[in-house]
Amino acid sequence: MAVDSRPHTQLDAEAHSQAYNNNPRPSPSSSFRWRSPPSQPDNWVKRKWAIFVVLTLACWSFYVVAGRVCTPMIRRYSSTGLGRSTGIGTLVGFIIFWLFMTITYLRMLFTSPGLAPKHVAKSPEPDLSEYRLEDFTPTAASNRPFADLSDAPEPSELAPIGNLVRDTLHGQRISSESGTEVPLKTQKSVRDWRTVERPVPAVLPNLRWCRHCEIIKPPRTRHCRHCGVCILQYDHHCLWIGQCVGWGNHKFFIIFTFWGAIFCAYLMGLLIAVSAKSPGMDGQVLALIILSALFGLFTFSMCAAHINLIVTGRTTVESYSRRDQHDAESRILQQEYGYFFHNSERRKVQKKWREEWGNTPVDARWVFGTKRELWEQEMGKSPLGWILPIGRPLGDGLHYGSNPRFGPNGEWLKKKDWPKELQT
Ligand SMILES: [Zn+2]
Ligand SMILES: [Zn+2]
Repeated sequence: MAVDSRPHTQLDAEAHSQAYNNNPRPSPSSSFRWRSPPSQPDNWVKRKWAIFVVLTLACWSFYVVAGRVCTPMIRRYSSTGLGRSTGIGTLVGFIIFWLFMTITYLRMLFTSPGLAPKHVAKSPEPDLSEYRLEDFTPTAASNRPFADLSDAPEPSELAPIGNLVRDTLHGQRISSESGTEVPLKTQKSVRDWRTVERPVPAVLPNLRWCRHCEIIKPPRTRHCRHCGVCILQYDHHCLWIGQCVGWGNHKFFIIFTFWGAIFCAYLMGLLIAVSAKSPGMDGQVLALIILSALFGLFTFSMCAAHINLIVTGRTTVESYSRRDQHDAESRILQQEYGYFFHNSERRKVQKKWREEWGNTPVDARWVFGTKRELWEQEMGKSPLGWILPIGRPLGDGLHYGSNPRFGPNGEWLKKKDWPKELQT
């Protein structure tokens, strides 16, 4: 029996690139079937080592600030000339922020992201042999199970740039109306912008069943290859907490990044101010300034990015589809018009596409309400629970309101196919 020995990451990428109806390579639906070997989750040490790094750094920062900076001030032998009251005030402020940062980190560490097998009963693999890919195009709305990629792809595996580079290196080919491929070089006439169709992600029929967990995955659930389990509303696998960020702990992830950014900003400001008064520079203080700047930048950018994701109704992994869509559209435009010419046609095509789809982004399937409603679904209704590690998200992680501008299986619909009341 022939065995496909390619690594499953490659198969992921292929399945992803094939998931566009305009892709010139026709494939039987069987090629979309999951063919990866059974996943082995990472071992405990590989998953959890970063937690010890974070906790060690937190303890070390406490030692540097309390032991090397504030204690000399309080005992009046600091070379900075700062007095006892400044030392006590600085230390109290530091301890408060340190506690917020550490407690929110621990809360995130001990809160499950939501393991799908605990919420969904096991079921045998559904028989999908009767399904055809054409039945799952956006215009063929049906009540069959929505499908997308099985495992959560790593960002690098989606590799839209790679396709562009490959096409450039190996020569671009386009598909004519009759289905035969024509090298781009031989194409003389400029394609009428009115006839250029937008690439649309296909809704694949067969991948909502997880062969590893043996469950039908609820909406927005993905299998994490590091943890070896399906996660409800999977966002990403986080190295720094040794587990996934998903439905159950996304709220605490955001609260932690918020307090982490504030803690790092306070720490950096405090150490720079003290160092400016000191005749010499303590090596440990300098190292902590650099680390707090790096971690501060990281946590702040994560916090801002995830707040944006929440109010736009997306997870990190779902947001990749917008980039993939952009890549697919760029490929089509490049196939039709090349890299540097026919810019007005290119713009006309893009304008036509935007109008046809009513400016709805491809990743807006789960935008069911206002930004406030989307925010409360993730963070809970109490404003106190938005900044303190208390409360829980609304809902059950299994059911989500969906955007009526999408079909029942997640098909990205043209405006003319929207409910009538939304078309005006
Ligand atoms: Zn799974
Ligand atoms: Zn994970």
